[in-house]
Amino acid sequence: MLSYPFESFGKPLAKALRETPQPAGSEVLLRVGSCGLCHSDVHLHDGFFDLGHGQKLDLSRGVAPPRVLGHEIAGTVVAVGPEATGVAVGDRRVVYPWIGCGTCSLCHAGHEELCSAPRALGLNRDGGFADHVLVPHARYLFAFDPLPEAEASTCACSGLTAYGALKKCAPLGAGDTLLIIGAGGVGLSAVRMAAAALGVKPVVAEIDRSKWDLARQAGATDCLDPGDAAASKAFMKATGGAAAVIDFVGAAATFGFGLQALRKGGKLVCVGLFGGAAQVMPAMLPLRAVTITGSYVGSLAEMAEMMALLRQGGLPAMPVTTRPLAQVNEALAELRSGSVRGRAVLQP
Ligand SMILES: [Zn+2]
Ligand SMILES: [Zn+2]
Repeated sequence: MLSYPFESFGKPLAKALRETPQPAGSEVLLRVGSCGLCHSDVHLHDGFFDLGHGQKLDLSRGVAPPRVLGHEIAGTVVAVGPEATGVAVGDRRVVYPWIGCGTCSLCHAGHEELCSAPRALGLNRDGGFADHVLVPHARYLFAFDPLPEAEASTCACSGLTAYGALKKCAPLGAGDTLLIIGAGGVGLSAVRMAAAALGVKPVVAEIDRSKWDLARQAGATDCLDPGDAAASKAFMKATGGAAAVIDFVGAAATFGFGLQALRKGGKLVCVGLFGGAAQVMPAMLPLRAVTITGSYVGSLAEMAEMMALLRQGGLPAMPVTTRPLAQVNEALAELRSGSVRGRAVLQP
């Protein structure tokens, strides 16, 4: 099989050929058709995550090279282990990559994505920057028909991260305002699913006005520039504040803006990993009865719910650009520079 592992942190990914693994036990072998690129691939490849203020989060322990990155994987089943059930050769599936140890209390509670001994594909185990990938069990595979395969691949991280964050805002009433900060790949994914998941179309705060057209096409009722004080004031006056804010950027400025934009009793869901440090006045939390929560990808059950919703169709299109897997280094550089519109997907 062909893959693009990285031999050491920060070094370009280099093509490697090795014997294609054969599935044992409950394992399933997929031929990768599409693998989405995620911003966390950039951080994983670096081996650290810059939190801002000189603080770095070390990612090197879980992602020891040589490692094949890529956790937004869709493809076709080409072989199954002797104990694999519920899937057959030829089935087209998208992979839930956030696999846990299966034995800890979080895994038992259905939150494998939060397991502290993870076996996540493309992070702790080899992922989809390859033409084949081994999945430990068919329960991590989801049918995606009639979605196009490239779009389906982005469901596993970008889509699920958006959906998991939306679910943390529930329930919202018809008159409640949902504010989404950031119209990158994940933010747009949330914008397009908001009405179906929560019954509310969102307002989008995005500093880059060239992304406003995409946000509107995805279903935003309005767009505002979070750096424009007059626009924020007008938003507060018109809405009375947001019942829920999802921050898909995660910078100090967007965190502060999101907290300010809440009405009393509102909830700020933090998703983005831009980094930086912000000040919170503890007394404001009880006085305004607001909730601040984090959201990390989503559970296996949420993946099942989201796939059912997406397969029904009728949602605004998800902008996806495809390129050959051989251009993985160029694609990573482009993502690092922030110039990607929508989601980039690699195809072997
Ligand atoms: Zn991701
Ligand atoms: Zn676990």
